[in-house]
Amino acid sequence: MSCLFCDIVAGKIPAKLVHEDDRCIAFDDINPQAPTHVLVVPRQHLATLNDVSEAHQPLVGHLIGTARQIAAQRGHQESGYRLVFNCQEGAGQSVFHLHLHLLAGRSFRWPPG
Ligand code: AMP
Ligand code: ZN
Repeated sequence: MSCLFCDIVAGKIPAKLVHEDDRCIAFDDINPQAPTHVLVVPRQHLATLNDVSEAHQPLVGHLIGTARQIAAQRGHQESGYRLVFNCQEGAGQSVFHLHLHLLAGRSFRWPPG
């Protein structure tokens, strides 16, 4: 089964990479919803947050730490940023390979739409 983000991880589809390490990559979202809109994506294919087991929790922590580091590098530490996992279609998930959205550079409303 083909997966868009597996293809980006494998370098088969281009993306504007902002970070890569042994467990994840991060790249600019193709349809940005804020001045900074980066997707932090594990190299391992996990379809949704529901597929994350206890053994994967260090990986999820690493995704969050990576997003925090990118936010800090871009000067958003104090002004603020939002991290989002959309889980399943009802929450807005459209790509079924786990990813963490980092959004920053504007103010955000609560509750989200
Ligand atoms: P979600 O709706 O939470 O599954 O998020 C998927 C995100 O992937 C959306 O914000 C899309 O704009 C983004 N996206 C889709 N295709 C690409 C691509 N080829 N490169 C970068 N981002 C993409
Ligand atoms: Zn995948």
